[in-house]
Amino acid sequence: MAKLSPVAKLLRELVTLPSVNPAFLPNDSKRTGEERVANHLIDLASKHGLEVSRQSVLPGRKNLFVRLKPLGKVKRRIILSPHLDVVPAEDKQFKPRLKNGCLHGRGACDTKGSVAAFFHALLELSKQGKRPQQTEILFVGLVDEEHRQSGSRILGERGPKADLAIAGEPTQLQVVTAHKGNLWLCLETLGKAAHGATPHLGKSAIHAMTRVTNILLTEYVDQLKERKHPLLGHPSINVGIIRGGSQTNVVPERCSIEVDRRTIPGETEASVLAEIQILLKKHRLPSTTIVESRGVPCPSLATDPNLPVVRQFLKAAKRRKSHGVDYFTDASPIAMGGTPAIVFGPGNIAQAHSADEWIDLKQLDQATAIVLRFLEEQP
Ligand SMILES: [Zn+2]
Repeated sequence: MAKLSPVAKLLRELVTLPSVNPAFLPNDSKRTGEERVANHLIDLASKHGLEVSRQSVLPGRKNLFVRLKPLGKVKRRIILSPHLDVVPAEDKQFKPRLKNGCLHGRGACDTKGSVAAFFHALLELSKQGKRPQQTEILFVGLVDEEHRQSGSRILGERGPKADLAIAGEPTQLQVVTAHKGNLWLCLETLGKAAHGATPHLGKSAIHAMTRVTNILLTEYVDQLKERKHPLLGHPSINVGIIRGGSQTNVVPERCSIEVDRRTIPGETEASVLAEIQILLKKHRLPSTTIVESRGVPCPSLATDPNLPVVRQFLKAAKRRKSHGVDYFTDASPIAMGGTPAIVFGPGNIAQAHSADEWIDLKQLDQATAIVLRFLEEQP
């Protein structure tokens, strides 16, 4: 077996430490929470003389800050912010396996690969004695990305701010400056209940909802296709759940659908609600109620790829241009707080959350080298 690089060894250690988001597995403290991973990183940071602090996010759950101070005064700051939590997995997924140059296990790419790469780059920078003159490097291990992104929301709201934040996600080493936003809507139609034998005495909420659904998935989809973002393409809509009626022999009084609407820059919650209302009114379905059902804002990300610091990262990654992705990330809540944010990391999003999650170790090494190269160039 080929010798593992130090960053691959770190990743292997991190995968053995379960950090399932407690939202998915309540009452299973042996597997849930980010603390095991945070404590491991704290030990390593202390050995390298790096400053550690925490930021409270949720009960028992804290963002981890590991700080490399510059030689002089802090005039600039770069945040490296992968998330520490993972989605649930069987026990065997917490026993990492190596096969054909890939490491298999839960979190391998989403996002313990990024944790290992970013953290190792930081340790290398501190060792080399090449620490920047004016730039503080702040590694932030975020909690709760997989559920409500509470970690990045608190980081965005309460700071610290930075000149650039790099959210870790498996982008296959592409530099991502834009991603779609996410809006969850619940639509409800109300009818009038009646006996199933005399449907003419009632009004079917299901019938009304089939019309609503049909309009959303045909006319509205066509409308969305007329909009286009250069990196993200069209916005989209999916009706994920439909619920209605109570009994076969009763005319349904209520019917509801849950809608997942992926937004592009320029679209807001208010603009989306308004345009759906206009469309339903046009088709004489004004009795439909629409409410936002996710409870947290998830706007799209659109960081200017021409910012000098983003150009500098592109150069370190040897990429000519930046990319857009469909999925939501921690970069958006961080950007909401005023810090320009991009997304970058080793591995492929196709393997994230899968029953056999893995990462190509060559990409892990490359990601580490890219981040280190970028950090070394900071003033
Ligand atoms: Zn994930």
